[in-house]
Amino acid sequence: MNIINLYEKYFDEETKQVLETFSNYKVYLIGGLVRDILLNKKSNDIDITFEGNAIELAKKINCEIISEHKDFGTVKIKIGNKNIDLASTRTETYPQKGHLPVINKIGCSLKEDIKRRDFTINALAMSLNKANFGEIIDYIGGLDDIKNKKIRILHPQSFIDDPSRILRGLKYSSRLGFSLDNETLATQENYLNNINYDMSCSRILSEFYRTKWNLDVFKMFINQNIYKLINPNAKQDFDFWFEPTEPFIYLALLLPDERFEITKRERNIAEEIKHIQQQKNQQNMSDFEIYKIYSALPIETVQILSIMRDKNAKKYLQKLKTIKIQTTGKDLINLGFKPSKEMKTILDFILEQKITNPNLSKQDEISLIKTTFLNRD
Ligand code: ATP
Repeated sequence: MNIINLYEKYFDEETKQVLETFSNYKVYLIGGLVRDILLNKKSNDIDITFEGNAIELAKKINCEIISEHKDFGTVKIKIGNKNIDLASTRTETYPQKGHLPVINKIGCSLKEDIKRRDFTINALAMSLNKANFGEIIDYIGGLDDIKNKKIRILHPQSFIDDPSRILRGLKYSSRLGFSLDNETLATQENYLNNINYDMSCSRILSEFYRTKWNLDVFKMFINQNIYKLINPNAKQDFDFWFEPTEPFIYLALLLPDERFEITKRERNIAEEIKHIQQQKNQQNMSDFEIYKIYSALPIETVQILSIMRDKNAKKYLQKLKTIKIQTTGKDLINLGFKPSKEMKTILDFILEQKITNPNLSKQDEISLIKTTFLNRD
């Protein structure tokens, strides 16, 4: 199949001119880019592969070399205004399952290179060589799978080699509206029932953050047991009374352990959640106590707790959070109070009254202060 027509429509003139640089070489558009051209979806990068050593090719053609990665045989180049990731064809194996692969050969055949890829829909190439420009090279049935909206691994060991592919599959399901083919789904289920936890958590985490999270995706993630990659004991009984937008909120619901290198801020939030969950007297807190505890926490922490069915957190967010007193320190000074610790006691007292009766006006607040603390009306 030749997709020169799609290619012509997909790229702007400048990019097409740049890609002509490779017309005398065995160079291919590759991976997600070919999939995106076929689906007419915008792609982020220009990924191309040379059947040979890409670094040597880059030195031969007229381009600026931005950076090179000898071990991988990859090179970032610039032609005109375009940045391009130029890769060598390569073979990879996974001597340590679930960790980074080892490269065995740089400059292998395109057919061998295709075998290291995650899914058939990501294993298509389009020739940039003038002899067969625009031709799709489809060694493993990727075209059919794109047509049938199927996500299919290339071999049964795929998830054992690299379990982060399970999250990649989820990402493509949600982004493209595709579904896992039956055999791939069965292989995934089997892997998730027998996970090898000696895996690279940073790979899992980086795929987690490359997923565009929303409620539907998270439900798929829970229902397909993919959460086990992060924490097999994660609670799954959530109350999604609102739809979180921050990916970290979805991660925090799983309470990832220390193997996952999250940021300091995120780790603090995770610690706070554990701390609040361990508190014993949660049942009998007054609204004022709830307000005092939860208003001192970052809002994400309270949101996460509320999704985890912490009733006080939900009450705080739904009912108490917006309650604010109108009296200020300046008002107290105008009433004759001196700046002191007593001012905080007074403001806390008013807050407590206001939480019981949110309709108190500023006038009411001031009157209460006068009667309670100044003995006058
Ligand atoms: P996106 O559209 O999100 O950028 P992509 O499909 O272009 O995704 P990348 O993560 O940029 O994917 O990777 C480029 C290509 O490299 C993929 O299309 C796939 O062929 C291959 N690839 C990436 N990650 C893996 C992996 N973990 N295992 C096997 N092949 C992979």
